[in-house]
Amino acid sequence: MSKIRMLSADVVGKIAAGEVVERPASVVKELVENSFDAGADSVTIDIENAGKTLIRIADNGIGMEAEDLKLAPLAHTTSKIKDIDDLERLDTFGFRGEALASISAVSEVEITSSTGLSDSGTFLKVEGGNMQKIRPAARVRGTTIEVKNLFFNVPARKKFLKKESTELAAIIDVAGRFILSHPASEIKMTSGGKIIFSAGKNMSPVERMRVVLGSDIADHMIKLDHSEGKYRLHGYISTPAVTRKNRLSQVFFVNRRFVRSRALNNALDEAYKSMLERGRYPAAVLFIEIPADSVDVNIHPTKLLVKFEDEPLLEKITVASVRAKFEELKTLPRRGTFGVPGKTNEHVREEKQPALTDLSEIQKEFEYNLKPAKGYSLNERSFYTAAAAPASAAENIFLKYGKIFQIGGCYIIQIKDDSLTIIDQHAAHERVYYEYFKKMISEHAEDMQNLLFPVRIDLTPKEAVLMEKLKDNFKILNFDIEPFGDNSYIVQAIPAILKDRNIKEIVHDVLADASGALAAKSDLNDEMVKYMSCR
Ligand code: ADP
Ligand code: MG
Repeated sequence: MSKIRMLSADVVGKIAAGEVVERPASVVKELVENSFDAGADSVTIDIENAGKTLIRIADNGIGMEAEDLKLAPLAHTTSKIKDIDDLERLDTFGFRGEALASISAVSEVEITSSTGLSDSGTFLKVEGGNMQKIRPAARVRGTTIEVKNLFFNVPARKKFLKKESTELAAIIDVAGRFILSHPASEIKMTSGGKIIFSAGKNMSPVERMRVVLGSDIADHMIKLDHSEGKYRLHGYISTPAVTRKNRLSQVFFVNRRFVRSRALNNALDEAYKSMLERGRYPAAVLFIEIPADSVDVNIHPTKLLVKFEDEPLLEKITVASVRAKFEELKTLPRRGTFGVPGKTNEHVREEKQPALTDLSEIQKEFEYNLKPAKGYSLNERSFYTAAAAPASAAENIFLKYGKIFQIGGCYIIQIKDDSLTIIDQHAAHERVYYEYFKKMISEHAEDMQNLLFPVRIDLTPKEAVLMEKLKDNFKILNFDIEPFGDNSYIVQAIPAILKDRNIKEIVHDVLADASGALAAKSDLNDEMVKYMSCR
């Protein structure tokens, strides 16, 4: 008896579907791409239960006649290429003819479409890949696709879907990227009837960034447009004053297709080097345009990593154009501010004192720091904490701790007796906060500081979803954060230890950290303590 057998079409279909349809967000991506491929400039995305029960995409594209509509959900059916040479001229997102087939294989799909040319449109229903119904239906030009009960017939996959907040966040990511990459299109998204995005046709690029990345980022973006060789690089980069703790606010598009690119991440690191603290990243929305024949489109739909023909050149161009922009705007922060007496580390941080990289520069700064400024004695002006303290206190500190210098706003150098100690200020700070928050949680302590001027924070739709999840965790940590309409929140009180800190940045950062922990389903309170300390 032979052990090898041919798989049934049904099994093949379901396996193939798994490659394209990983999660609700991938359905949204494929369907919206189809809408834009169909020439739509208005797309509405309605979601129920994070796409698990319903994903509805409606567009005003060219639509399909009945005979095309019948073919669309079949495997390997496409209107976009005929033979392999067409790939070189491709200007559509799709061409494999597998998205609708894959989606139909693992859900219940209802399509209503009209070309606006014939008497009426058509309604089609497919369930688990089998056509159930086809009949005429009224519709203005365009297509509406409803995907219901995703993975109803593949329980194994259904089980692996993440929490609704995580799946919804992934859909919001996808929708947000389309808002950024289609600046002349109207894109709306609702979830459970609530508006998540509403971008009109006339919405400017900056307004689009405000909607997707939040105004804290959008209002500090610098425009960039640079062509070299076959590359055109354009879009927006953030000033060094606006940073995030991860690279999620760096969004890249190649010929309007969202991609991830280590090369571009690295190029930005390089371009901002010496302007940002370690572990901080700028925001960027960058578009790269390359002639269709010099980019490999034959990448798998769910694989977002691209490889460029001449990656080093692209990196070089990116670094050069970002640097040139800063030079032009003269926004490069000035050096040497940290030697000023009475200036605390906090000020230095806010000015984004560049980290010193060049050794001779370090030497210079060091000597400068040690040289007493006019009217100050060496000891007085080089004390880190003593500068603002009364003379007697300064002496006590001196006896206890020896001489203390601060270098580059990053390191504390302590010279006492025969020893020299170098303290990474940031790490030391983190530890202090860590102990504090741990204690606060274990003792249910209340240590709140009411803010004289409550801080308003505008969250992105994705952050707002997380905030709803994390409200209680923030409360335990002694934050008082109240909703303030749309995706805005008002911070009324904060843990006392955080007074004088940049609250906006901390909240954004903690939400960014938490999105990972939510996905991993780990203990949130504990994770939050760690985030809060790092921040
Ligand atoms: P591909 O996009 O790779 O061609 P799909 O399975 O995504 O494959 O779609 C199959 C075909 O269905 C497309 O080539 C297109 O002709 C048609 N189609 C899909 N969605 C739409 C839409 N929203 N409007 C008009 N035609 C569509
Ligand atoms: Mg497609």
